[in-house]
Amino acid sequence: MRLSQYFLPVLREVPSEAEIASHKLMLRAGMIRQASAGIYTWLPLGFRVLKKVEGIVREEQDRSGAIELLMPTLQQAELWRESGRYDAYGPEMLRFKDRHEREMLYGPTNEELITQVFRGAAKSYRDLPRILYHIQWKFRDEIRPRFGVMRGREFLMKDAYSFDMSVEAARHSYNRMFVAYLRTFARMGLKSIPMVAETGPIGGDLSHEFIILADTGESQVFCHADLLDTPIPPADVDFGSDLTPHIAPWTRHYAATDDKHDEGRFAAEVPQNKRVSARGVEIGHIFFFGTKYSEPMGCRVQGPDGNMVSVQSGSYGIGVSRLPAAIIEASHDDAGIVWPVPVAPFEVGLVNLKPGDKAADRACEGLYARLEGAGVSVLLDDTQERPGGKFATMDLIGLPFQLIVGPKGLKGGEVEIKDRKSGARTTASPEAAVKRLVGEVRAQRILA
Ligand code: ATP
Ligand code: MG
Repeated sequence: MRLSQYFLPVLREVPSEAEIASHKLMLRAGMIRQASAGIYTWLPLGFRVLKKVEGIVREEQDRSGAIELLMPTLQQAELWRESGRYDAYGPEMLRFKDRHEREMLYGPTNEELITQVFRGAAKSYRDLPRILYHIQWKFRDEIRPRFGVMRGREFLMKDAYSFDMSVEAARHSYNRMFVAYLRTFARMGLKSIPMVAETGPIGGDLSHEFIILADTGESQVFCHADLLDTPIPPADVDFGSDLTPHIAPWTRHYAATDDKHDEGRFAAEVPQNKRVSARGVEIGHIFFFGTKYSEPMGCRVQGPDGNMVSVQSGSYGIGVSRLPAAIIEASHDDAGIVWPVPVAPFEVGLVNLKPGDKAADRACEGLYARLEGAGVSVLLDDTQERPGGKFATMDLIGLPFQLIVGPKGLKGGEVEIKDRKSGARTTASPEAAVKRLVGEVRAQRILA
């Protein structure tokens, strides 16, 4: 992409309405614009990141065996009356009527809809287990939308739903998603901590919120420092009983908690030098709820013995449109965003210091073609802005590598590579620079 022909409305001033780093930087870097309270347009640069994040979420869901479908954003109130949630759900639900006076709503979540789909299709135990998911916009009329896309009213969520014959089998589905979540977030450069969450009246230990540590986070987290270094189980781990040792460190009661009452016990049980008490951002939430929807909604299948059984289910959410902001909270500096390669909007920023100079133009065109030819995505700054402004923009938008080309360097047969994260600058011949960048980008694209 050539910057002279792109749509990248960066802001030099820090927007006054933004309180936290990610919100400020997303506005400044031309990633998002507010349409109305808690509702955002994703500008081209932001949309590229959103799609990369969505792609990683999808790949890991598919790898875990979950099956993608797409449910609508609009739902009928009638369905929510079946589960009893229509009246129970508060003013966060956006309700309206269509021209025939039918009560409708903009889906804040999809348990009812997926249960309706599944009960109409699954007849016997042979149709189970299944995990179905979609990536779709949700609307929740949050009382206090804030921090940009971090807490929006309209937001993109991946929500998966599992269907099993027994509680035991449902635990395997839960474990499968648990591991998929750890892998998903690690691929985005995030260190996620599964935190034991409230399960409400259903009880049990089968609910975890996935948190990343950030000073501006809305959740309180207490955890054992060793959790931060616990290795992620491989994707092909046996999801049967064998899985338990793999995730035990996170599911043990003292894994991580947000419970104030536990604070004292936390202090008593975890040695001082191992206590982590921090703020966190919730990026995912998994939940086993048994027959909460299948029973009232009549989602039953025939078991091997011929008896009808209510299906055991769980739901598994990821805040897809919250993630770009969460990643920025975890990875930025005073100059701007620092994208990890797997979610970067472009992988290399190619800076032509003097467009119009024959040698600089020719070198940049050659580098652009060779990098793109090798499958590396490049944003070429071919604008007439002064070098200082170009550097500031590149640092702000946070592409992992900058390749800086000017007439002076070219005379000596050299271009400059800047690593955005470390700030390290090195010079190389154009050929060597291409080779190095292609190698680095390819190496960093995959899960470490
Ligand atoms: P929160 O406590 O942050 O309101 P929640 O418990 O209501 O989250 P879930 O219903 O579990 O969230 O939704 C799954 C995921 O969707 C959350 O883990 C979060 O990452 C994301 N999410 C929830 N609400 C919002 C929102 N208003 N804006 C952006 N993302 C959201
Ligand atoms: Mg909420």
